[in-house]
Formats: sequence, structure tokens, C-alpha cells
Amino acid sequence: MGVIAIDGPAGVGKSTIARQVAAKLGWAYLDSGAMYRVLAHAARQAGVGGSDEAALAALAASLDLVLEPGGRVLLDGQDVSEAIRTPEVTALVSKVAAVGAVRQVMVAHQRRFAERNERVVAEGRDIGTVVFPDADLKIFLDAEPSERARRRLAQAGEVPDGADVAAVEADLAVRDHRDRTRAVAPLAQATDAERIDTSQMTLREVFDAVWVRVRSAVRP
Ligand code: C5P
Repeated sequence: MGVIAIDGPAGVGKSTIARQVAAKLGWAYLDSGAMYRVLAHAARQAGVGGSDEAALAALAASLDLVLEPGGRVLLDGQDVSEAIRTPEVTALVSKVAAVGAVRQVMVAHQRRFAERNERVVAEGRDIGTVVFPDADLKIFLDAEPSERARRRLAQAGEVPDGADVAAVEADLAVRDHRDRTRAVAPLAQATDAERIDTSQMTLREVFDAVWVRVRSAVRP
């Protein structure tokens, strides 16, 4: 099994980079955040609140969730790749992800995905620390909060102005705070991960910096 683990805070560009690396290597791409988003989406549909831990755990255990190696996400056979990106789901997701029993289910899913696909570029918050502690390569991408907010807006096709950046930055800060301070598997850099501060880098430069490390860690 081969695993490249890419962790980091919200809006740093993990998905874009992980997808590009996976495509160039011909490996599967695992978006672990999408799994927590599916649960948040399902919880909203079922009327389960973010603090009802027992109901969230039961829902997680019963989810018919499929992650395709190319990144598409299916819930009960339906493509929910877009539905899990709404602001409502984004506002709820870090609450459901803080529930220990939910994480147990998701981590088991992620390990099965890697076993099935054999070679995986996985991204998330706890991939290098908890899910795949023996990954062949661990990268921790980071960037200044305002730069991450700008990237988020640019990704949504918006021309960022100061007020928008501040609003998005505030949302990211709430989510990062929950992710960094939760009791179970908090967002953290693994001791053997390489941190890349991407604040001053273009996407291309980030990809190149990651690719150099990929080339020395695994055989494409
Ligand atoms: O990566 P993305 O922004 O889609 O992740 C959504 C949320 O899912 C994160 O804010 C975090 O709360 C949760 N998550 C997690 N562990 C992961 C991946 C995502 O807790 N490995």
C-alpha cells in the first residue's frame, strides 16, 4: 500500500494539490473532509442537530456512503458532491466531526478505501497523525488566514474585496478553532510531516514544492 498524507487547515488548497498529485501519479484521491460533509448533509436532512452525539454516531454507522477514487461522493447512490459544499453544511461539519464515535466510523472507511485502492493521496486534518501514521510521505500545508480566505473566494469565482475576505476569514477561524481544539484527533501537524508555508506561493509553486517531495518519497 502507498499513502501520501496531506493535512492542513481550511482553505489552504489541500484538495487542489492532492487531486493534482493523485492525477499525476495515477493514484486514487481520498477527500476525507467530504465524508464528514456527507454526514453533516445527512444530519440536516434527518433533522439531527450538531450536539446530538448519539444520533450522529448512529447516523454515521448507517450511512450508505461511497467515495469514488476520482473524488465523486455518493450518498444512497446519489451524487452529492455539490450538495455537501453548501454554507449550511460547512457551518455544521466541524461539529459532527468532533464526535469520537463518528470519527471511528470514518477512519475505518478511509482505511478500507486505501486497502481497496492500494495507492492513495489522502487529504484532511488527521491523515498523517491518526488515519495513516505510517504514510510514505506526510505534508502539512499552511498559510496565513487572510490568504486562505482569499483563496476560498477566488475558488468560488469571486473577486475578493476587504469585507468579503474578513467575513470568510472569520468563518474559517471558527472552523479551524473547532478542528484544532477538539478532544479526538485534532488538526495538528504530525511530528514527521513536512510543513510548507504556502502564504507567498502560487498554486503552481505549491504543486512543485510538493512534487519534489513526492518524487523522493515514492516511485511514480
Ligand atoms: O476539508 P474540508 O474543508 O472539506 O473538511 C470539512 C471538515 O471536516 C473540517 O473542517 C473538519 O471539521 C472535518 N474533517 C476532519 N478530519 C478530516 C477531514 C475533515 O475532522 N480528516
